[in-house]
Amino acid sequence: MNRIRTIVPAIVLLCSSYTTGAQVINVLPRPACITVQQGTYHTPSPLTFCTNARGIDSRVFASLLPDGAKRTRSARKAAVTLTINHKQGPAEGYLLRVTQNNVSIEAPAAEGLFYGLQTLRQLIGPDGNIPCVSIADSARFPYRGIMIDVSRHFFSKDFILKQIDAMSAFKLNRLHLHLTDAAGWRLQINSYPLLTRKGAFRSSKGWKKWWFDDGRRYKTEGEPDAFGGYYTQADIREIVDYARQHFITVIPEVEMPAHSEEVMNAYPQLGCLNADSTMETAKPRADFCPGNEDVFVFWRNVLKEIAALFPSPYIHIGGDEAARTAWRTCPRCKALMQRTGMKDVDELQSYFHPPHRHHRQLFG
Ligand SMILES: [Zn+2]
Repeated sequence: MNRIRTIVPAIVLLCSSYTTGAQVINVLPRPACITVQQGTYHTPSPLTFCTNARGIDSRVFASLLPDGAKRTRSARKAAVTLTINHKQGPAEGYLLRVTQNNVSIEAPAAEGLFYGLQTLRQLIGPDGNIPCVSIADSARFPYRGIMIDVSRHFFSKDFILKQIDAMSAFKLNRLHLHLTDAAGWRLQINSYPLLTRKGAFRSSKGWKKWWFDDGRRYKTEGEPDAFGGYYTQADIREIVDYARQHFITVIPEVEMPAHSEEVMNAYPQLGCLNADSTMETAKPRADFCPGNEDVFVFWRNVLKEIAALFPSPYIHIGGDEAARTAWRTCPRCKALMQRTGMKDVDELQSYFHPPHRHHRQLFG
């Protein structure tokens, strides 16, 4: 496995290398079309750039150029011109030309200029020289993303911002955050403060130790040896805005109806009742109780806050690995199934995840 891990990046690096004569072009991911010419362009210091792009913070463009790069209004004087050309074409596509006199990037939209700059950044050598080249490029796949499981392994806001920098350097555009699971609820929800107060901290830092050896115990925020954390709504706004400036959509994921022990620790009344224990003494279970209408009130309120924070057209709602064991014996679940004529817990899960009913309740 380790050998495969070594070989795969090596192959990717080889594929991204393009050589003509003495000029070697290394760009990752490999652009669609590269034409190398003779000569190099030496970047001046300080480097100047100009752009006709509107509605974008030009400091983001400057941050991709060598230190001290300054914006100028004169295209004639600029070393790098970034031009939205208003032509038809994919928004993420761009045309990059490096001659011995200057550098130009053209694109139909700011995304293309951004990705053209990311390519340029990889072309600038340590001596400030750039090989003369023409690159025509556009994205092969519309969804280019990574998922970070911040529930099992919590990462700080600053770490996530750093990941956004790294993602955008490789032209990735979707960041999926696994925000909730048994291991910790990571998002401040104003209408349910116990989710983070009682559901975001645990007794061991390492997830495997906590899950397999440490009894899966939760801690309250501020308790000694409480490991974990969460993003405040202000943190999320900062992450989402930073991602937007880097043309990355943040997709939030919240788990339902299973993988929710941390919610049951904070709000046990949202789990099933069973015949053996009262609600007060029942141990936290993984699944929400579909027989309890308060569960849908909970999700309506939580998802409203999430929808207000994340402009993503998608919210991932988990749906995996629902054991549904308690549903079989829970008086509320059984009553609901009897009342509506459901034959089994499969139908009960369909009731939890209908394609239309609750979505209309939530957002209609
Ligand atoms: Zn139930």
